[in-house]
Amino acid sequence: MIEACDLHKSYCVGSKKLHVLKGISLKVRKEEFVSILGPSGAGKSTLLHILGGLDRPTKGRVNFDGIDFYRTNEQKRAQIRNKRIGFVFQFYHLMPGFSALENALLPVLIDKNRRQATLQIKKKAGELLDIVGLSNRLNHKPHQLSGGEQQRTAIVRALMNEPDILFCDEPTGNLDSETGNQILQFLLRLNKEKGLTIILVTHEQDIAKLADKAFHIKDGLFV
Ligand code: ADP
Repeated sequence: MIEACDLHKSYCVGSKKLHVLKGISLKVRKEEFVSILGPSGAGKSTLLHILGGLDRPTKGRVNFDGIDFYRTNEQKRAQIRNKRIGFVFQFYHLMPGFSALENALLPVLIDKNRRQATLQIKKKAGELLDIVGLSNRLNHKPHQLSGGEQQRTAIVRALMNEPDILFCDEPTGNLDSETGNQILQFLLRLNKEKGLTIILVTHEQDIAKLADKAFHIKDGLFV
């Protein structure tokens, strides 16, 4: 599904150049659960953003299901991100003024071909929120939800467009271990039962071990 070849990424910080990725290559097959493990600052988020079409590499290429991600135009890349990729972040990134249900509906509302949530789509969001145990939280705003509830809302949002792949950046990094474990078990179920491909970034070895395959990043390279 994803093939990345010789990825490099540098940032300019003042007059200095920070070479974060120094030649990363990987393949992720459909229905695989892959983790990327490494200490803070190793470049995991940078890599995830590049694989997910959010940030251009300085050098190298990413092939997403036959599409050369950074040689296709921005509009096409945005379309793929919206339709085929789901993102889950450590700090949830929910819209503060919107309810859980409205947050879950966002990927539909920002799709210019739809722009409105039909009853059917609202029903689907409600059903997904029910599956993650939030049926009694539909109208709560993010500040009225616990961290685990916010992350479950964010996962539902990521699943709304039925993506082929889910990118998770430290999805349990802000949660207590029990809540974090529930989230991880839910992700595992999505992978095993629904065949959803998952790439998960973590700095914790125990979490990385849950995956079928773990890549360990150190000093800008896989070791
Ligand atoms: P990780 O996810 O493993 O913690 P990151 O990919 O977030 O690592 O960051 C890797 C390195 O790149 C860090 O030193 C970070 O400070 C730096 N970095 C990340 N994004 C930027 C940016 N936009 N501009 C400059 N430096 C950045």
